[in-house]
Amino acid sequence: MTAISLRETLDEFASQGKSVDLWLRDDDAIEPTAALEKLVRLTQQYAVPLTLAVIPEYAGERLATYLRDYRHIDVAVHGWSHRNYAAETEKKRELGLHRPKEIVLSELSDGFEKLHDLYSNQFISMLVPPWNRIDDGIVDGLPDIGYQTLSVFGRNKPASLPLLNTHIDLMDWHGTGGGRPHHALFEEIATRLRSEPHGGSITGILTHHLVHDESAWAFLEKLFELTANHPACNWRASRQLMATLSP
Ligand SMILES: [Zn+2]
Repeated sequence: MTAISLRETLDEFASQGKSVDLWLRDDDAIEPTAALEKLVRLTQQYAVPLTLAVIPEYAGERLATYLRDYRHIDVAVHGWSHRNYAAETEKKRELGLHRPKEIVLSELSDGFEKLHDLYSNQFISMLVPPWNRIDDGIVDGLPDIGYQTLSVFGRNKPASLPLLNTHIDLMDWHGTGGGRPHHALFEEIATRLRSEPHGGSITGILTHHLVHDESAWAFLEKLFELTANHPACNWRASRQLMATLSP
């Protein structure tokens, strides 16, 4: 019960001359840690491009200096503070209309400028909303402050700027708090790939290095082993995919 169904799917695609695009987004980076180092090394070993969603308010020179040498890493903006402004009865949300829209957008503009200055070539103009939630009223203001792409979790919904979403979440947030069972993750990826009418559709994998347990790390390594050199798989940098998106 390991990678069988995904492997079979990919082998079948390869025999039909089809291929799929995968991309990897990891959230909540603030500073260099052992967990971040593990992720950076693992992605480097398998030549998998990595998009790190960095929390601007807390991330400074230390993280920028550490990441500078790794050319396979792009840096996206993860809200401003990752603070929750929603009521206790609501789902957590930083980028909602609980505060005036102007304040939220001005923080997002500060986040854009701060990371743009710190990361120069590694910076991409992508917003990753904390908890993958953002109100439409905020989205409408994003192009004016420089954002060109939005990345949340799940199916694409109409938005006023191009979406590059993630679709497979490694973590079992509401259950064990650890990594989800490997067979379920492999099956979910295979099912998504098979549900698309043409190979070549984009599938985003979502990770959170700070909370990975052994199982989550082991899954990531198995996934890379299977896909990194598979003829039906292309791991893409988000900046490469962003260039192909339309609104
Ligand atoms: Zn987050």
